[in-house]
Amino acid sequence: MIKNTYLDLGNRFFSEEKAASFPAAKLVLWNKELAQDLGLESLDEEKCTAIFTGQELLEKAQPIALAYAGHQFGNFVPRLGDGRALLLGQLTSSSLNQDFDLQLKGSGRTIFSRGGDGRCGLGPALREYILSEAMTALGVPSSRALAMCLTGETIQRETAEQGAVVTRVASSHLRVGTFEYFAAQEDVSSLRKLLEYSIDRHYKHLKEEAEPVFQFFKAVAERHAELTAKFLSVGFIHGVLNTDNFSISGESIDYGPCAFMDEYHPNQVFSSIDRRGRYAYSNQMPIALWNLSRLASCLLLLYPESARTSQSEVFIRELHRLEKLFQQKRDQAFCKKLGFDFVDEDNLELVAKVLHVLEKQKLDFTLSFIRLKAFLLGEEVPLEETMNSKFSCVLGDLRARHDKLGSSYASMKACLEEANPNYIPKNHLVEKAIRLANSGDFSFAKSLLEKVVEPFQSLSKEDLDWIRGVTDEERVTETFCGT
Ligand code: AMP
Ligand code: MG
Repeated sequence: MIKNTYLDLGNRFFSEEKAASFPAAKLVLWNKELAQDLGLESLDEEKCTAIFTGQELLEKAQPIALAYAGHQFGNFVPRLGDGRALLLGQLTSSSLNQDFDLQLKGSGRTIFSRGGDGRCGLGPALREYILSEAMTALGVPSSRALAMCLTGETIQRETAEQGAVVTRVASSHLRVGTFEYFAAQEDVSSLRKLLEYSIDRHYKHLKEEAEPVFQFFKAVAERHAELTAKFLSVGFIHGVLNTDNFSISGESIDYGPCAFMDEYHPNQVFSSIDRRGRYAYSNQMPIALWNLSRLASCLLLLYPESARTSQSEVFIRELHRLEKLFQQKRDQAFCKKLGFDFVDEDNLELVAKVLHVLEKQKLDFTLSFIRLKAFLLGEEVPLEETMNSKFSCVLGDLRARHDKLGSSYASMKACLEEANPNYIPKNHLVEKAIRLANSGDFSFAKSLLEKVVEPFQSLSKEDLDWIRGVTDEERVTETFCGT
C-alpha cells in the first residue's frame, strides 16, 4: 500500500492536486523488474495506464505537487515547485527495504505551473526513461523509471508533439531548492522540519548526532562528491544542475537536456538553453560545490543568530575540504578507468595524457575506454576501423606503467571492467529511439533499453552498432528540456 509521508510536513510544503483528464491514454513502457520490487506486479495494463497517468489512485495515494525554490543558471527564483509533476506517495522496495517516491511527470497543471501547460512531450519522457535506467545500471545513484504512458493528447512545443507521462521512482524529491524555499521566507520552523524529515529519509545515522546540521551538510556533500565523480567517469552531462534539480539524497534526478558525450571535450555542452556552458561536462564539479554552498547558506539559519558568523566560517572551511574531496573522487575514478586501483602522480599524469589525446584527436569517450580496456586485457574489440595512432602510442605508455608496477591481471581487470562500460545510451541511439517512437514504433527504444540496462555485458560482433562512434549524419549537437 502506498503512503505519503510528505503530508505530515504540513501544507506549506505542497499543494494537493489532481491529474488532468487523459481518456485516450496508453501504456507504452513498463519496467517489470522495478514494478515487482515495489509490489506492483499484479497490475494489468488497463490499471497501469489509469494509475500512471493519474486517472485512478492507488489505495491511500494522495497526489501532491511539492513546493521548492531554486537557483536557475545562478539566478534565484523564490517559488518554482512541481509545475508538471504529481507526487503520489511512497512504496517500499522489497530488495532495498527503503521507501521510494513515485512521481508522475507530465500529468497536468498545478498551482506551480506559472505559464506552463503541465505537460511533458514523448521525446523528453523517453529520454528520461532510458537515461535514468541506464545510469542506475551503470552504478550511478539515480532516480529510475517505472512506466511511460502516452496521454493521447498533442502538445505544442517547437512543433506539435505527443504528450506523455513518465513515472519516476526516486529515494525522495527533496532538493537544495526545497531548503532554499523556506530559507528565503526565513521560515526557520519549516526548515527545521525539513531537516528532520531529510535526516529521517536519507541519513538516519545522524539522528543521535550532537551536531546534526553540520553533519547533515557533510553527508549530503560527500554523496554528491561520489555522484559527480561518477558523472565524469561515464561521460555524463546532466545539463541543468540548477539547485532545484540537485537532490538531498545524492541521487541524480530530473533528466532534461542531459546526454552522454560522444567525442571527449571538457567544455562539452548539449543543452540548448545552456548558452554559456555553466553546466558543461567539466564544470559539473565546481557547480556541485556552488550548489552545496547554497545549501550551507540555508542551513546557517538553523543556528542562533549570535552563532551564524562563526558557523559560516566552519561551512567555508568545510567547502574547501570538499573541493579536495571532489578532486580525489574524480582522480580515483579516472585512475580506475586506466586499470589502477590507486592514485599517484604518475597515474594521474597518464590520465591527463589519455584525456589530452582524446580531446585533440576528437575521439569517442566511451569507445576509447573500451579500446583501452581491451588493449590492457589482451582482448579484441570487434571493430573494423583501425585505432588512432596517437591513442595507440599513449596506450603503449600505459602498458609500460602497468608493467613497471607489476599490476596483476586480476586487479587491472576488476578496475577496468567496473569503470568502463560497453553499452551506454549514445545520443544518436536515443535520438533514433525518439524518432521511431514518435511514429508509434517503440521496438528500437526497447532494444536500446535492453542493452543499456546491462552496460557491462561483454561485446559481440553483432553489437557493434551499439558502441561505435557517431557518424556526422547521425550526430546530435543539441538536446532540449522540452518544457
Ligand atoms: P525543470 O527544468 O524540468 O527542472 O523545471 C523547472 C521548473 O519549471 C519546475 O518548477 C517545473 O515544474 C517547471 N516546468 C517545467 N516544464 C513545465 C511545464 N510544461 N508546465 C509547467 N511547469 C513546468
Ligand atoms: Mg526540475
